[in-house]
Amino acid sequence: MIDLKDTIEQIEKLLLAGTARDLTYAALECRLAIERICYDRLRMAHAYIPRKELASWQPRQVVNFIAQTADELAAATATFSISRMPICDRSEQTEDDFANQVWTEVGTQVGFDPRTLGRLWNALANVALHLRLPEDGQDYVGQYGASGAIRPKVEEALAELRNISGSTLSITGTLGTISFVCVCGFPNKRTGSLLSDKQVVSCASPKCYESYVFHLAETSFERRIIEVPCHECGVSQSVPWVPVHRTKPGEVFHWTCICGQEIGLAWRLFKVRRNDAPSLTRDA
Ligand SMILES: [Zn+2]
Ligand SMILES: [Zn+2]
Repeated sequence: MIDLKDTIEQIEKLLLAGTARDLTYAALECRLAIERICYDRLRMAHAYIPRKELASWQPRQVVNFIAQTADELAAATATFSISRMPICDRSEQTEDDFANQVWTEVGTQVGFDPRTLGRLWNALANVALHLRLPEDGQDYVGQYGASGAIRPKVEEALAELRNISGSTLSITGTLGTISFVCVCGFPNKRTGSLLSDKQVVSCASPKCYESYVFHLAETSFERRIIEVPCHECGVSQSVPWVPVHRTKPGEVFHWTCICGQEIGLAWRLFKVRRNDAPSLTRDA
């Protein structure tokens, strides 16, 4: 759980000082705090989300991605409690049994709306961290943005930060974990309830470019490969799908066969007749 106390005190001081410079610095503090809140959720879900699967680094998109792929509670308000008496066999407990237990509250995570934080993050930059373009040669280029526009955005962000700082605990909802070991040897974890059939997942190791297709019916992960027979020894090679498809036209992807022979793979452009390619919709 991150501590926002120092950030909140700084923003309050800068608001009190109130010059355009102070308000600009306050806006910057707000933006950094929003990033810290969102990226900390990513850190907690790190074992479940490879960085390479993130389509965007913007705070709102990061939190939405976590909630959709790894942790449904990433931005939710939730309270964590423990029962005073041990619960021996959960499958034999009814709803009433759970309700009648004596629970001791451990802490609460105060949730937030990623859309609100994302909107504020953008608005703070617009009003405080960029200058207005001059209209013409007579226009004035200021040192800072307009104080009257910055202050309300900072105050709005401060209210959000005060609310989120009420958390006494960070909770992850990664129940129902499915594990698999990549061919590179790296152990991977995923939240089963958030995986869909045929979903593509990447190995979480930053050094690995292997990817897998998830099959819901069998609860299995199928390695994405291209089979390439070696022109020297004839043995079929399983080449990872991702680096081959990232190879640009004109580049050669190199792969070494177990016999030591180097195999090169490259894209080649060729002409297709319309009848041979029914999906072709425009002239090549
Ligand atoms: Zn791997
Ligand atoms: Zn070979």
